[in-house]
Amino acid sequence: MSALSELYEEITFCQQCEMARYRIQTVPGEGAGDADIMFIGEAPGQHEDQKGRPFVGPAGKLLDELLATIGLNRQQVYIANVIKCRPRGNRDPLPQEIFNCRKWLERQIELILPKIIVTLGRYSMALFFPQKSISKIHGSAEKREGVIYFAMYHPAAALHQPALKETIKADMLKIPPLLAQLQDIQEAKEDTQAKQLNMFEV
Ligand code: URA
Repeated sequence: MSALSELYEEITFCQQCEMARYRIQTVPGEGAGDADIMFIGEAPGQHEDQKGRPFVGPAGKLLDELLATIGLNRQQVYIANVIKCRPRGNRDPLPQEIFNCRKWLERQIELILPKIIVTLGRYSMALFFPQKSISKIHGSAEKREGVIYFAMYHPAAALHQPALKETIKADMLKIPPLLAQLQDIQEAKEDTQAKQLNMFEV
């Protein structure tokens, strides 16, 4: 069993909040275990609760469309949520629930080691950009310890406010150049290391 599957199993048995009493199933996350890009949403909704998979309702359909604009599908990235169970009636997650669930997300990040973490919406953004406002920082990137953090509006926001759809699309298109930049830096580093090795060998 892979470390990721073991983690999913642990999440399945989580009883830390009252959400455990009401969920149909947990929604740990899904995608490539070695994905370069990890998308983090807020919490499962009704569709996700029924299927045990993230972003499978209308917001997920838009996320799939957005991924397609950068030539990717959901099997090539990793998709998770801050909260792993559906809050009853789709209410906002409570601070204690976010605190309880945070360890699962941290372990997912440790296992997947994404190069880019894309936050979808304000709950996810708040974990990585505390005190920031989504209207100010969406579409901007911050690099910390080799990982790029990139904030975007939640796809559901674009469903409720169609004017945001163009903004979210434009933000999505910024992701491939960010990844390319990271790859260039990595290649340049490897090149320098190879040259240094050659110097010692001569
Ligand atoms: N909204 C989210 O934040 N996550 C999902 O999985 C679905 C909708």
